[in-house]
Amino acid sequence: MSTTLEHAVAEAGLTGRGGAAFPTAQKLAAARENNAALIVNACDGELDAAKDWFVVSRHLAELIEGARAVSPTVSFAARRGSATLDQLSDAGLPVLEIPDRYVASEESALVAFAHGNDARPVTRSRPLVFGGRDANGRRLRPTLVLNAETVWRIAQILHNGPQWFRSFGTPAEPGPRLVTVAGAVRHPGIVETEAGTPLSHLLRIADAAPYCAVNVGGLSGGYLSAPEISRLPWETAALTAYGCTTGSGVLRVLGRDVCPLEQVTRTLERAASESAGQCGPCMFGVPAIASDFASVAGGDRRSLARLQRRLALLPGRGACRFPDGVAQHLAGALRVFGAELDAHLSGCCSAELDRHAEPEYDTDDDGHAYAS
Ligand code: SF4
Repeated sequence: MSTTLEHAVAEAGLTGRGGAAFPTAQKLAAARENNAALIVNACDGELDAAKDWFVVSRHLAELIEGARAVSPTVSFAARRGSATLDQLSDAGLPVLEIPDRYVASEESALVAFAHGNDARPVTRSRPLVFGGRDANGRRLRPTLVLNAETVWRIAQILHNGPQWFRSFGTPAEPGPRLVTVAGAVRHPGIVETEAGTPLSHLLRIADAAPYCAVNVGGLSGGYLSAPEISRLPWETAALTAYGCTTGSGVLRVLGRDVCPLEQVTRTLERAASESAGQCGPCMFGVPAIASDFASVAGGDRRSLARLQRRLALLPGRGACRFPDGVAQHLAGALRVFGAELDAHLSGCCSAELDRHAEPEYDTDDDGHAYAS
């Protein structure tokens, strides 16, 4: 890899499209200095995510070109049983078949898996682009992990230049972006967009049904109410105040006809089954809050204080950020669905009422309807 590539990527302002949004040029410099291998993460690891599949199925040649510009030693990671895996394999590329579990596609879990270990996060004192050790003390070679969209963007910057890239988005978050829109929409799938785009516009493209809220960022993200959606843009600076980020690029629309607490319960139960079983707070804490939330949603008022107490204990205590993400998800649900929780504790459910009533609709700035 040349320093020219790093300069072009730095000038473009590309940040990682997999979640953490770290400046890609800094990662590339560390990879070059340490002669790091590259793993292209095409696992679509976040709930509902499909943009890695989109990049692989629509832009494979550019993806390969971008990867080879970064490192001479490249492998691709995709979930076992996925269409993405089939497409990468059919193209004759070296592919890591990652177990279909949430934390298995975490960066250090991919590096561990590439070295013959289980796909579980590894405790590390610095990024694995500098190398590290697995749980048994064996050496891990310096390895850079980049999300598939990030690698595709590198190829685009090589072709079109940094100024083209910066003609999209905002000065703080330049470049085109992919967003997966799922849930109560008539056209689920990938939207090609940029930072600063109104969220309501993204939902209109997907033809969202009347909704009560939107999950922004999947399991590690938060929730926005319908009025918040109508006034906020797809932009990190605007969304962080609400516990949401643009990181993984996922929007799940929660239709008005389903109980949001049921959805949150299912998501937390999924999270409880996903722990890699290495850290106590994660192994026991996540199932405990999932159970507490289910009890509260079922009308058990006594569980609420215990849920809040346990929630405060969860962040910052795992070897990876999985429990932090779950805590953020739950905090977002409690913020947006507080009134719904009160209703459940009083023996009501607004979705149940809605199923039997003609809803009234407000419209947002784009004329899109949401239930008021
Ligand atoms: S926090 Fe959970 S998922 Fe992360 S390493 Fe520990 S047990 Fe595994």
